[in-house]
Amino acid sequence: MTNAEIKALTASHVMNTYNRFPVAIVRGEGRRVWDADNRQYLDFTSGLAVCNLGHCHPRVVAAIKAQAEKLIHISNLYHIGPQAELAALLVAHSFADKVFFCNSGAEANEAAIKLARKYFNLKGSNRYQIVTMEKSFHGRTLAALAATGQGKYRQGFEPLLEKFIYVPFNDVSAVRNAISSSTAAVMLEPIQGEGGVNVPSDDYLKGVKAACKEVGALLIYDEVQVGVGRTGRLFAYEHSGVAPDIMTLAKGLAGGVAIGAMCATDEVAQAFTPGTHASTFGGNPLATAAGLAAVRTVLEDGVLENCRKMSEHLRARLVELKQSFPFITEVRGKGLILAAELASGIKGADIVKAALDKGLLINCIGESTLRFIPALTVTAGEVDEMIGILKAVLGAVEKKG
Ligand SMILES: *Cc1c(COP(=O)(O)O)cnc(C)c1O
Repeated sequence: MTNAEIKALTASHVMNTYNRFPVAIVRGEGRRVWDADNRQYLDFTSGLAVCNLGHCHPRVVAAIKAQAEKLIHISNLYHIGPQAELAALLVAHSFADKVFFCNSGAEANEAAIKLARKYFNLKGSNRYQIVTMEKSFHGRTLAALAATGQGKYRQGFEPLLEKFIYVPFNDVSAVRNAISSSTAAVMLEPIQGEGGVNVPSDDYLKGVKAACKEVGALLIYDEVQVGVGRTGRLFAYEHSGVAPDIMTLAKGLAGGVAIGAMCATDEVAQAFTPGTHASTFGGNPLATAAGLAAVRTVLEDGVLENCRKMSEHLRARLVELKQSFPFITEVRGKGLILAAELASGIKGADIVKAALDKGLLINCIGESTLRFIPALTVTAGEVDEMIGILKAVLGAVEKKG
């Protein structure tokens, strides 16, 4: 099928929940993808921070192939080897003692919210309120939407789960004012992804943790987007040294395969007992074998070092662009989640479309934030190639004035 044929079939039969570009990507290798008409693109979207090792990484592909030939699914009625091994690996490299597996970021956040409530319920306390951040994004299921501090996503789906309170991000005193003896947890992304690539000040997590401790509330980190190496450490919270009680993962965890994970300390995790929470596909052999290969690769193959190095290079090149094009007002981010903010009146969507036409995939969040989330395995040559294409696109924008 051609791009046009796939587009037509989609329009007739797939629910219209996405604004899609008129191409169908059918093949990927490293940081390159090809569409159905065999056109090549340089990919700086990585399946939205999912393909952290690039497309079809050989270690992930080999693990999936081997597992697919042995056992694809069996259910959690039985023990699952790769699930146990992936849990052990995550525990060995994080604050967590136990892991619950599911299939997406939203589901991982649902599990985190349920665990926080169950934890206090078992203590005989009536803490149920969750404090989350303005501009946060936690997913599209009803509870994850309720946690999401952006009205545009919640609109039309009310009434949502009550007892969520939103406070400004990067403001410890706002958290302090919002939490009380009925707060079960404060939930936040250590760096906000969807909400604009917002990096808080260095001591923010420390302040929030102290505020939680004072009232006895739990701290939940949503690392669905920034976990698994994206910021140059395995988990974004490591930069601060401030561990949470619960952490959620998904996007980059299995090299492109659907997976979600909710990690917690023993103290909190013991609130989940047989029957309290479950997922049919959660922790299935195929996804966890892929996850095991992906996390091992991030840890063993110099991926974190490359991420940090390429972060500096990409940031420097974006700052150069900012100097050439005054309508870029700010360059921000950490590791390989970087953003270029555009002055009002410059439409990010037009730049993304023009880049696509020149063989580059980038992504715009909101109206005016270009987000750069290449694979953590990206090379300096590929960064330079991306900058070259972007420069041409921005030059055309400037001319149009
Ligand atoms: C993408 C994302 C989610 C939702 O993940 P899904 O797999 O789409 O459900 C939740 N939290 C954050 C921070 C995300 O970036």
